[in-house]
Amino acid sequence: MREILKGISRRDFIKHSASMAALLGLSELYVPQIAAALENAAKKPAVLWLNGSGCTGCTVSLINSEHPTPAEIVLGILSIRYMETVMAASGHVAEKQFEDTVHEGGYVFVMEGAIPTAENGAYCMIGGKSVMEIAKEAAANSVYNVAVGSCACYGGIPAGDPNPTGCKGLKDVVGGTVVNIPGCPAHPDWMVGTITHILLFGEVPELDEHGRPKMFFGKVIHENCQRRTGYELGHWVKNFGEEETEMDYCMGGKGCRGPVTHADCPSRLWNSGTNYCIAASAPCAGCVEPDFPDFKDADGKIISLYAPIPEVAKYKEALEAEVEHKEGMGAGTAAALGAVVGAAAGVAGGYAISGKTKSEEKEGEK
Ligand code: SF4
Ligand code: SF4
Repeated sequence: MREILKGISRRDFIKHSASMAALLGLSELYVPQIAAALENAAKKPAVLWLNGSGCTGCTVSLINSEHPTPAEIVLGILSIRYMETVMAASGHVAEKQFEDTVHEGGYVFVMEGAIPTAENGAYCMIGGKSVMEIAKEAAANSVYNVAVGSCACYGGIPAGDPNPTGCKGLKDVVGGTVVNIPGCPAHPDWMVGTITHILLFGEVPELDEHGRPKMFFGKVIHENCQRRTGYELGHWVKNFGEEETEMDYCMGGKGCRGPVTHADCPSRLWNSGTNYCIAASAPCAGCVEPDFPDFKDADGKIISLYAPIPEVAKYKEALEAEVEHKEGMGAGTAAALGAVVGAAAGVAGGYAISGKTKSEEKEGEK
């Protein structure tokens, strides 16, 4: 076991199992079971990790974690038979390894990157075969099919308009059950947690309508965003780099897709618990959603990444109309109107609105 885990001590391994339990939202009572599942896995699942059209950012994300790294656990415990980015083998040796594993069957097939389908898959070839053909072969004899990153899940950036290479996600190419772990890149916890769940319970975790494990993608970002108060108060970031960007002002006016994006980034954080997009003053780009990056309006027109999404635009408009009314009304009437706006915009009503951002207030003081 120690040899397989490449220097990870038993104590560290149990500690890692405990963090896995927390990651999966399980009680500490599950720690022995998780450790046993991981140990047993040393003899079991082979993994074929195939790269299509993408940037290999999900591989980088996976191996960019703290000790014990998910990479040490996953790459040490699982028998990775083929993974272009990290494997030592190349050429015919690597191809044979791939073919032998497919022939044996019983492996986990992981797809990273989108699959070009135009021109019979000619835009992404490995060893004279299209990735489309290789992915179909790999999926046909696997136990589980897992797509990591938004490109492999739904096409992602390689499938962005006008998508001349006909890029698609794994499920659209191979059909059947595919566990989608989207993200640009996918969070290492999402990848390791999902694989651990499969090992522990011998089944895929509960998935949402887009094939994503609900335990990581069950809530919208907006629900736990620390800038939510700014949203409720109508305090909008107007220009990147200004003071408001660093505070709790809302980034909805700058294209934040938090209200329609399902992921646990605000609580999980990235880079070993350091930060995440919105706290680092960047709007959520909705990178885990099937329509990323080409979100479209009701007329099918692509919305700019920095333009408010329709849900936020509607809410913002209602809020601004409320402020205008408030300026011409008594306080009592305005307070009642707050609830009406909330109901109209599909959010909780009852706001304390100053009507001005801090920048505007400062302007007024000058
Ligand atoms: S719109 Fe974005 S920045 Fe504003 S509260 Fe929602 S998630 Fe946070
Ligand atoms: S905050 Fe949004 S854009 Fe950033 S990683 Fe999470 S889902 Fe992706």
